[in-house]
Formats: sequence, structure tokens, C-alpha cells
Amino acid sequence: MSEEKSLNFIEEIIENDLAEGKYQSIITRFPPEPNGYLHIGHSKSICLNFGLSQKYGGSTNLRFDDTNPVTEDTEYVESIKEDIKWLGFNWSNEYYASDYFDQLFEYAVTLINKELAYVDDSSSEEIALLKGTPTEAGKESPYRNRTIEENYKLFIEMKSGKYKDGEKVLRAKIDMASSNMLMRDPIIYRIKHAHHHRTGNKWCLYPMYDFAHGQSDSIENITHSICTLEFIPHRELYDWLISKLEIYPSHQYEFARLNMTYTVMSKRKLLQLVNEGFVSGWDDPRMPTICGLRRKGYTPLSIRNFCEKIGVAKRENLIDLSLLEFCLREDLNQIAKRVMAVLDPLKLVITNYEDGKTELLNSENGPDESMGSREIPFSKELWIEREDFMEEPAKKWFRLAPGAMVRLKSAYIIQCDSFEKDHNGNVRVIHCTYFPDSKSGQDTSGISVKGTIHWVSVMHAATAEVRLYDRLLKSENPAAEEGDFKDYINPNSLEIIKEVYIEPSLSNATFEDRFQFIRKGYFCLDKDTTNGHLVFNRTVTLKDAWSKEVKKG
Ligand code: ATP
Ligand code: MG
Repeated sequence: MSEEKSLNFIEEIIENDLAEGKYQSIITRFPPEPNGYLHIGHSKSICLNFGLSQKYGGSTNLRFDDTNPVTEDTEYVESIKEDIKWLGFNWSNEYYASDYFDQLFEYAVTLINKELAYVDDSSSEEIALLKGTPTEAGKESPYRNRTIEENYKLFIEMKSGKYKDGEKVLRAKIDMASSNMLMRDPIIYRIKHAHHHRTGNKWCLYPMYDFAHGQSDSIENITHSICTLEFIPHRELYDWLISKLEIYPSHQYEFARLNMTYTVMSKRKLLQLVNEGFVSGWDDPRMPTICGLRRKGYTPLSIRNFCEKIGVAKRENLIDLSLLEFCLREDLNQIAKRVMAVLDPLKLVITNYEDGKTELLNSENGPDESMGSREIPFSKELWIEREDFMEEPAKKWFRLAPGAMVRLKSAYIIQCDSFEKDHNGNVRVIHCTYFPDSKSGQDTSGISVKGTIHWVSVMHAATAEVRLYDRLLKSENPAAEEGDFKDYINPNSLEIIKEVYIEPSLSNATFEDRFQFIRKGYFCLDKDTTNGHLVFNRTVTLKDAWSKEVKKG
């Protein structure tokens, strides 16, 4: 079913620009700073930037915004590339802001020559003091009126390493009384004697974000430079620099970043979770990072569909995490192979079934016939889920209880005759009889039952470790809470079941496979799997157990 979708505001701008002939085709960019792993918020920006150039015929550059040598690393560069490819996008060019350092330096010299930039010897405290407040104009620096020659000489000396960090900065000469604080002679270059992950020790002088970003857009002829709302005040400076430098006029447009319930998204906070051991790493399946979601079993399509559904707006809001999970279930429902696994086993013996006999039963792999079927071994002793038996059944209980009948999935109808308890009073085994003429697909028994339960043959079962995840944070909006977000960490976000029983076909599971353990949730193989030891992650439950809990109170 195709939905007629109205255009978002950026699409409207682009369609207008194209209709007016302002551009023949568009160029966008995704500009991550390689100082951490990408998270679900970034995927919104990725889907938007790549989606626009796909829709309107154009291209998207991947540009690493690597102007801050201290926090950046090639480990992050590699992970970012892997994540974008996994999401299903290909960039036209791979660029680095650091490739433009020479050009940016020349731009700065141009500003100096136009008397639009000056070297300031003030300390950062002095600069802050003279900056004024939003309601009060700032004061001019005593260094503001240096000559072109003096500024040029000092700037070259700054580059040559003559000065220490913080001793001098280069500032744009704009307006100390501007109502926009960012226009009050912003710093555009600072001295930093630091090793850069790509340029090594060539530079001891680095451009500030505002001097690098817009100019990089311009160098690449970006037509639509899309960023998040907090950059609105930067747009005036973005435009000022482009106009004074007389370079390609890229335009900046701002959209609302993704915020999601029960999730923190700032890289700084995610780094704390990793460094302080709250999770096992950036790719811990509880992390909102792309690699964490991937490891948990998310599919690229589910994330792209989610980004499509949340749309692009100009106002901040909070998206419900359950929408992301909804998109995930929608996709997994189509592709996951239905299999049987028993997480909390109880033994069931079919007293009238022949000892030692094995029957291979045909079971469909999914709701769609094209997914095919497989054979599963059936025998006298089975594992079933402990919660599927009730000694004293509640009303409307359609599963096993003394005297009650159920269908064993893809097998026979059985009736429970008796059960035994251990010395602690726990049910140890239940005894049933089966109806040989009730075999699934060729049932002539005439018996109708309401419940179907899953099972695994004791003598054929394989075993696996299963990891069940819950949300990492207990707060619906952790960013809005007072105090430290780590006070809201859910202490029960991971439950490990060391040994569950799985049908033997699962021994051949691959990392690409997606499974529905029927009635138990969606699962995939975790990278901790070794030759003799399977580990499955629960990707998501079948239904939203959490919101049911909340409704119950
Ligand atoms: P963080 O605040 O998490 O550290 P960032 O904005 O510093 O993230 P960048 O690497 O600079 O991270 O981001 C690259 C691109 O992704 C930017 O264009 C940024 O606007 C966008 N982006 C980052 N977070 C989100 C988000 N939550 N929703 C939408 N876009 C985002
Ligand atoms: Mg940033």
C-alpha cells in the first residue's frame, strides 16, 4: 500500500530551488566529527541527507569534521563508514575538513587583508569579559585595530609555532554590539600544539567549527547544508563568512534533532557509559549506537523506516522508543524464521508414545510460504515452557493443566493426565497422552483445542545462552531529569540465561539470520558465539510488554 506523503519543509525548499533553476542538481553532506560512534540520532541526519540526494538526483558527501585534534581518532572514522554503509547508503566522495587546512588558512589571510580579521593577544577570560551579555553590547579588544601587516606577520608566526596554546587567537572583525553573540568578533583560529590523526604535527593552529564548516561546504559546492536547530544562531556567521570571502554560496537549513524516550544520545554521555563500565562497549546491545542496534539484531530497513516515519520538523520533540521497536517488529515479522526454543524448561513425557522413537515433523519457517519449511524431531520426552503449565488453572486458561488439552506446535494434540513434584514442591515432570490421529496438517481427530504451545525434543535439543535486554535507563526523558543521568540506569537491563533448549536446526544459525523464537520474541546470534557455544540476543519482544506493565500500574 503506498501512502501519498506530503513534502517536508526541506523538500519544499529543494523543489522550489530546482523549479526556479537555481541548481541543476543538489549536493548534500553528512558531516560527523570522528570523536565517537554514530547513534540513532545520526541515522536521522544520514537518512535525510542521503535520502534527499537520492530523491532529487544529486550526490551526498561524507565529510569528517575533524578540526579538533584532541578528541578525534581513526577508530571512529572506520566505524562511521561501516555504519553508514550498513544503513544502506553510499557517499559520492569521502572528504576531511583537515584536507582543507591550507585553503582555510588562505581564507583567513584573505580576511586579514580585507581588514576583517585580527590577531588578539587577550586571554580567553579577557575576551569573555569584553564580550558583553545578550542585553548589553560588548567592548572592543585593545588589539582590534592592528594593521594588516602586523596581523599578517603575527598570524604567520602563530602558524610557525612561535606561540604557546592560548597566547594568541585570530578573530573575525564583525560587530561587538551585534544582538547575535556569535557575531561579536568570533574566534576563528586557535593555537593548539597537538597531534592530528591525519595531518600529524604539521599544524599547531586549528580553525574553529564556524570557520571550517561553512567554508568546507562551500569548497564542496554543497547546495543544501542541513544541520540541527542549535545551529540557527550560527547561520548569520556562516553567511557573513561566505559573503566576505566571496566563495560558493552554500545555504544552511536547520531541522529538529531526534530525541527519544529512555535514551541518551550525546556522545559525551555514551562515552561515560562505556568508560565507566555500565555497558560492555560501544556495541553493547543496550546502547543506542548504530553498532549496538546492529548487534542487538536491528535491520537497516527498520531504522530507515523509523526515520521516514518520524519525519523532519522545525521544532524539538520526544519520539517514543516504542515507535522504533514497532518498525523493527514490522520488518522482523516479514523476514524472521520461526523456530522453537524453550527458555524455562519443564519436562513433559508422552506416556503412550513409543520409547526411543523419533518422528520428523514438518514445520513452516514463517507465515509466508516462500520462506519454506523444515523438519523437526519429535519424541516421547519434550521440554516445554514452565509457564505453559498451571496446576490449578485460572479462568480462560487454554494451555496445560491437569485434564486439559493443547496442541503441540506442528505436532499432536495432547492431554495432561498427571504431574509430579520435587521435594521443594516444584512441578518436576508432567505426564500426557497424545492423539495419534491429530497430527498437524492431517488431523482427523475431530478434537478442537484453543491453545498451541512450543516444545523441543529432549533427546534432540541443542543448548544456547540467551541474553534478554531491557531499557538501559528508567527515566522516560533522562535529559530532562535533574542531576546525573547515570542515577537513572536500570539495574536489570540485562538478564542472562546460561542454558536454554533450542531445536537442533538452530545449531546452523548464521549471523545474518533473524529468528522468531515462537511466543518468546525475536532473536539473533551474538558475536560472542563460539564453535561450541551459541549465544542469542533478544532483539525485541513480540509485543510491547513494557507499556502493558505501565498500563497495569
Ligand atoms: P553529539 O551531540 O551526540 O555529540 P554531534 O552533533 O556533536 O553529536 P556530529 O558528529 O557533529 O555529532 O554530528 C554529525 C551530524 O549528525 C550533524 O549534522 C548533526 O547535526 C547530526 N546529528 C547529531 N545528533 C543528531 C540527532 N540526535 N538527531 C539528528 N541529527 C543529529
Ligand atoms: Mg557536532
